[in-house]
Amino acid sequence: MGDSRRTIRTVDGLVDAGLVADGDRSELGRIAERYAISVTTTMRGRIGAVDDPVGRQFVPDRRELLGTPEELADPIGDLPFTPVPGITHRYPDRVLLKPLQMCPVYCRFCFRREMVGPEHGVLGDDDLCRAMDYIRERPQIWEVILTGGDPLMLPPARLRRIVDELDAIAHIGVVRVHTRVPVVSPERITDAMVRVLTGDTPVWVVVHCNHRQELGEAALTALRSLADSGVPLLSQTVLLKGVNDTADALEDLFRTLVRNRVKPYYLHQSDLAPGTSHFRTSIASGQEIVRTLRGAVSGLCQPTYVLDIPGGHGKVPIGTTYIEPDGDEYLVTDPNGRHHRYPPGSAPAGMEAA
Ligand SMILES: *Cc1c(COP(=O)(O)O)cnc(C)c1O
Repeated sequence: MGDSRRTIRTVDGLVDAGLVADGDRSELGRIAERYAISVTTTMRGRIGAVDDPVGRQFVPDRRELLGTPEELADPIGDLPFTPVPGITHRYPDRVLLKPLQMCPVYCRFCFRREMVGPEHGVLGDDDLCRAMDYIRERPQIWEVILTGGDPLMLPPARLRRIVDELDAIAHIGVVRVHTRVPVVSPERITDAMVRVLTGDTPVWVVVHCNHRQELGEAALTALRSLADSGVPLLSQTVLLKGVNDTADALEDLFRTLVRNRVKPYYLHQSDLAPGTSHFRTSIASGQEIVRTLRGAVSGLCQPTYVLDIPGGHGKVPIGTTYIEPDGDEYLVTDPNGRHHRYPPGSAPAGMEAA
């Protein structure tokens, strides 16, 4: 991994790279003790300034030391749904399998920031065996979502073993990989990696990307090689204050993704992770942004805006509703904000022009 040796992993490294002022060394050092730092060479190359949409995602900020009362170490309640190490099983037909807790970059807003980092390592062989047994013994599990950590940080041979083992389980229909690698560490999308992702079991890849500025030539080439090989590509984006919380920024990102054959899947409300309040937008402003995109921008570019309910109660769509029951009929709002009765024809005069 020629590139990974030059990844910035320390506050000193950030100072040397000119991303952090010398005077901030000790304060940011305290943050680094709790939350790992990693900025790949590729992402370093996409940062124009520390407070731009890419810099803010990866360069630690003193505000990470400010906790707020509503923040939670386990914001979406993974722990109560962890029957064996490496597995999170919340919904009947799908499980998360976390084969490692390391990432190519450490996002400052990560909802698993208390669980990930280079010191957490890889799920050992015994634990992996037990996780596979758990899946094998439960025929209701149809989909396995590899996440972590970032599963594409694994050497292709180790990832192949996992995919092959899942492939041998008759009730597994689909494997999904949640990853940042194609964008932040595109050199890892080698031919060997692409071959692992294009075996017999369909593997869907969901790429985490939050701003157009993350997508350089190398990232687009990596996405192209996955798409050309037949890997279905989706994206997920976290709505982040100061990074992408405008309709224009999201429109630019989603159009770029679709042009590169990636279908925007989820737009996440930022979770209540510790020390991330400076990233959180209100749900009302998120709904306003999503409403602005609806109608104005191709349906291909519309992800579902979702909230992961704290406590492990699952993800639900939280975009605004466009329909309300009204007696035996409905009142529907169009993308321009005008109201209509459904079925039509029964509207009292003047109703259509609200
Ligand atoms: C997000 C998540 C999933 C995947 O949910 P989808 O809506 O299918 O994308 C599955 N399990 C857990 C525990 C999750 O947090």
